[in-house]
Amino acid sequence: MAEISCTVTNCYYNKRNGCTSPVIKVDGKKASESRNTSCNTFVEQKPGIMSSTAEPQNNSSVECEATKCVYNKNATCKASDILVNGKNAQRHEETCCSTFRAH
Ligand code: SF4
Repeated sequence: MAEISCTVTNCYYNKRNGCTSPVIKVDGKKASESRNTSCNTFVEQKPGIMSSTAEPQNNSSVECEATKCVYNKNATCKASDILVNGKNAQRHEETCCSTFRAH
């Protein structure tokens, strides 16, 4: 469970740089640095798609494939808070978990 700070303000789930999703999925099976990770839960806001009306969570579940990260235990993130970056991303590959730290 982690509190997620997120600069991807054009994501459906982003509100006030927090994340309203109760669970996110981070990719990066082979990642050895943060830029090779990405938030797979990203959904680009487009005209006609409203943003989530929920409030930012402070204990989202983070399922994470980046097993080379020190915070990864059994494909779950054990950090208490993480930072997701990727301003103006259009695809989830353009986001990343900046909290990633290699073993
Ligand atoms: S801090 Fe590490 S384990 Fe947690 S989401 Fe980021 S890359 Fe995955």
